[in-house]
Parts: sequence; structure tokens; C-alpha cells
Amino acid sequence: MPATGTAIRAVVFDLDDTLFRERDYVLSGFRAVAEHLGRPEEFTRWMWRRFQAGRRGDTFDALSEHFGLGLSRADIAALVELYRAHVPRLRPCRGVIELLRALRRRGRRLGLLSDGYLPAQRLKLSALGLEGFFHAVVFTEELARQGPPAARNRGRGPHQAWKPSAVGFERIRRRLGVPHRACAYVGDNPAKDFLAPNELGWLTVQWRRPGQLHADNPPPPGGKPWRIVRSGPELLRLLGHPRRT
Ligand SMILES: [Mg+2]
Repeated sequence: MPATGTAIRAVVFDLDDTLFRERDYVLSGFRAVAEHLGRPEEFTRWMWRRFQAGRRGDTFDALSEHFGLGLSRADIAALVELYRAHVPRLRPCRGVIELLRALRRRGRRLGLLSDGYLPAQRLKLSALGLEGFFHAVVFTEELARQGPPAARNRGRGPHQAWKPSAVGFERIRRRLGVPHRACAYVGDNPAKDFLAPNELGWLTVQWRRPGQLHADNPPPPGGKPWRIVRSGPELLRLLGHPRRT
């Protein structure tokens, strides 16, 4: 439970399914791969149907098998690379730009803390055109070689600083120049977004919207968000207020 009576001075956001629809990115990536394979409409439609039916893994293997493409391991790996390196077409969710603008007007420091593969995460942020709002941006993938892994992430190699590691939260707090108790984290995925900031004394908020992919993931012990909101204005009422109540 976060301390009460402390002003929130910094608001840090997750990226995927918090500021934009993760589904839009998936569709955009499928399209890039399908175009590369020379059958844009047919392959995109097939992969998207499979995704919407809840089958989210090994998409390119399944595509190869279904259409008899005979893709090798190396071919599949190249498609995964192509997916992660494609320039996506994305736009922020409704209310995001207004919220970021309003929080800045109220003097909040703004941060972005995101897991995920580089360069995909950079390309997403760039496609959204939101970089100018943030005083600090931390991609946890970049922190992998900077210091020992947190105990709970040992053995995760380049992903050792991914959430629920606290490393990224520590780093961005330092860069924003405010104490932990004056920070809030806004995310979408209870399985990994809120455990570390809860432990550090941050205020944690889950922003729920229809169509999110991970909103109903169960939280680990201690990983429940402190609040759940469903719109930008609701979030602004919570975080734009001068005091925690
Ligand atoms: Mg997310």
C-alpha cells in the first residue's frame, strides 16, 4: 500500500497496450511479413484470424506449414527479425495525448519504461510520435549488461532487466530526479507491471480498455495495482491531484 499524503511528481508509463493497442502492432507486423512473402492479403488474413482465435505463438511456423512454404529455421528467424524491425503504423489510444499534455501542464515529470525487443520498442515509440512528452525513456532491454540481475530474473540473459525486475524502475526514478514515493506507474499487465513499483512504494495504476491482451493475467503475490482506471480523464483525476488520498 503506498504512503498517503505524498504528492505525485512523476508519472511513468508502460508502452504496449497502455499507450497504444498492442493488437494494432501485431497486425502491422503480420502485414509487413506477408508483404515480404509476396502474398500480402491472403497471409495477413490467415495470421490475423489465427491470432484472434487466441493462438499467439509460432505464427510463422504455422503459416509455413499451412501453406506448404517449406521455410527453414533460418527463414523463420529472419521473418521474426523482419517483424521486430518493421516500421509500424500506430497511433496512440484515445485520450493519451490529452492526458500527457495535461499532466505536463500540471508540472508532472513524465517517463516511459518498457520491456520488449529492440529495435521494435524504439520503432513503436517513434511511430506514435510521443517522444517529446517524456523527460526520460528507459527500455529495459538496454539495461541487461549494466549490473547484476535481480534475483527473480536470474538466468534470463538479455531479458534480465525486464519487469518484474526493479532495475528499470530504479533507473528511471533517478533520471526523473524524484523520490520513489512521489512516483506513479501506469501499465496494463498485472502479471508483471506492478510488483516492483509496489515494492518500491510507487503508486500503481492499471489502465483497462476493451481489447487489451494481458489485462486479465493474474498478478503474483504483491503485484496487484493500487488502482484501476478506465479512461484518460479518470487517470488525470487520480494523478493530477496534488495529494494522494
Ligand atoms: Mg504493456
